[in-house]
Amino acid sequence: MRPASCVLALFFFTGCLTVRNTPIQERIRAAEKLFGAQQPLKWSETLEGVETRIPVSGKQAVLTLDACGSDGDGYDRELIDFLREQQIPASLFINARWIRKNPRIFEDLARDPLFTIENHGTEHRPASVNGRSAYGIRGTRSASELAQEVLENALEIEHLTGRRPLFYRSGTAYYDEIAVRLIHSLGFRIAGFDILGDRGASYSAAEVEEALLGARPGSLIILHMNHPESGTAEGVRRALPQLKKAGFSFVNLEGLPPKADGH
Ligand SMILES: [Zn+2]
Repeated sequence: MRPASCVLALFFFTGCLTVRNTPIQERIRAAEKLFGAQQPLKWSETLEGVETRIPVSGKQAVLTLDACGSDGDGYDRELIDFLREQQIPASLFINARWIRKNPRIFEDLARDPLFTIENHGTEHRPASVNGRSAYGIRGTRSASELAQEVLENALEIEHLTGRRPLFYRSGTAYYDEIAVRLIHSLGFRIAGFDILGDRGASYSAAEVEEALLGARPGSLIILHMNHPESGTAEGVRRALPQLKKAGFSFVNLEGLPPKADGH
């Protein structure tokens, strides 16, 4: 490479790093400044600001499928194939570790207009500003660590898909109230749930079926797509035709209006 090209390449490389890294570091610092001194009092999956139902006029519900990563980095092909076969849309909450482990599958899912990719964090941490744990998983320990947990994976998803995720769900779906405000300040809505579809992919097919049949218009259903050995796919296969027969249709989170409280 000639010297001029080297300089140009170096300039381009440095420019890319600047574009990719500086804003995220600035935003992390800003989050720490805004929220770092605040002490949370609450710890829950259903705090105000966590959307647990969707505003709909008819008999619509949303399927959200989590892909958590680490010891849960499998791929439930049977579940996804069924949704594709039935043309049932879903919002996929994907963790950075799962993306790294399954890059080809991620690409394939991101290309499918049936699905939208949402943000399930970088290290799959509960959303805490002081390290509180849920289900034995340590939460983020500070405002800056939480901002990093949210922003790094959002940036990665945007980089890979060209689309910025709209929703965030923390690892374990737990939040303190400062974390909720912090995540909103970063520009994300928070997806909770009102139907616990597979309890972390621990339910049998019959339990998944029973849970899903409890859906109401506006329900937000949480399931997992990272445990192919679980009863999730079979339970979904049994329940969804019954829900469709009862008049339900399914929509993505994308394009839904915000709730009346602004989140
Ligand atoms: Zn998860």
